[in-house]
Amino acid sequence: MRLSTRIQEVAPSPSFAVSAEVARLRREGRTIIDFGVGELDFPTVSAAKRAAKEAIDADQSRYTPTPGTAELRKAVAAWHAKRHGSHVEAPDVVAGAGAKALLFELLQVLVEPGDDVVVQSPYWVSFPAQVSLAGGRLVPAAGDASDGFVPRAEQVRRVITERTSVVLMNSPCNPTGAVMPREEVRELVRLCAERGVALVLDEVYDRLVFDGEHVSPLVFADLHPGGIACVGSASKTFAMTGWRLGYLVAPGDIAAAVARLQGHVTSCPSSISQAAAAAAFVEGEDEVETMVERLRSRRDLAMRHVESAAGLSCHRPAGTFFLFPRVDLGCGGEVDSQAVAVHLLRHAGVAVVPGTAFGLDGHVRISHAVEEGELERGMEALCREVERLRADPGRLGRS
Ligand code: PLP
Repeated sequence: MRLSTRIQEVAPSPSFAVSAEVARLRREGRTIIDFGVGELDFPTVSAAKRAAKEAIDADQSRYTPTPGTAELRKAVAAWHAKRHGSHVEAPDVVAGAGAKALLFELLQVLVEPGDDVVVQSPYWVSFPAQVSLAGGRLVPAAGDASDGFVPRAEQVRRVITERTSVVLMNSPCNPTGAVMPREEVRELVRLCAERGVALVLDEVYDRLVFDGEHVSPLVFADLHPGGIACVGSASKTFAMTGWRLGYLVAPGDIAAAVARLQGHVTSCPSSISQAAAAAAFVEGEDEVETMVERLRSRRDLAMRHVESAAGLSCHRPAGTFFLFPRVDLGCGGEVDSQAVAVHLLRHAGVAVVPGTAFGLDGHVRISHAVEEGELERGMEALCREVERLRADPGRLGRS
């Protein structure tokens, strides 16, 4: 059977590939500490679990309206307005089967074949595939390592052209944990308005910020009316990755266009997940606060190890649950991050994701969404092995 060229050009998700390798090694009886994970290890917030059980018992088992239930859209709009100071209203919200699906649909709606899509780099692993499936060409807007990869308007200004139709950003950023400052967000909105391009912000980690604040571009919606779309999710905020519930917030025509497309793809997200998420947005805040505090202390724990290890360097991430250190084995040039990841898995029993998955070699992504004792043990093993490699770089690649 001949597969389409479109799909042949798409690589499998590298982070899921790491999880599959971890599962395989564990089946073989190896003890692996998994720093490759892209999800929280905390239980789903209790309001969501309670509301889901009630929804099942009440037989809420039919299709919902395509953009989601009125209850959920209202809850998301109220939450966004309260947390971020935006002026979002329920009709601007579309619920979908995860932020990933909504980002895919958004790009289908906004990108013409051949358009340039400017994407902040390093970038989340699914952006290249999503841009290419929309027929677009990914143009990276490279962050500055010496600045901790903080996304800045100037990086976009350097690469935006008349062929650009969308600027796709991610703050707080996976993999770097960097958070875009308010002034940069305002500048970026101005720039996109001036050039007449859509600004898409993936803000799925908006609630997981330890230093400073998350600023949603929708706060500056007046500067670019109808030109801004933000995508968020219950996944990371309420520890609900498996429930598959994300949302798009886009005042203007974009939300309606995405809902039109979704009507032919998934019809709507799961009715039970919608009921669960609606309750989480209204009542989940206290538990989220507790999770953020634990993540903050885990980030500090992981950073203490990185800062004391020869061969690793990293800015303190302001948000998310990721660290993205540079690995320096003292040989000059960028180290092969794929080889480092394989080596750490074999010799330290620790899984990380190579920087190449995010468009930047020489780095690895470490997730600290791991229980504190494991985090401590895993960071010790990882740093010890990097120091050994630095002392004898020839070990890399040796089995
Ligand atoms: N965007 C970013 C930057 C992510 O890291 C992830 C998940 O890892 C997603 C989107 C997908 O979120 P969801 O689970 O809501 O599809």
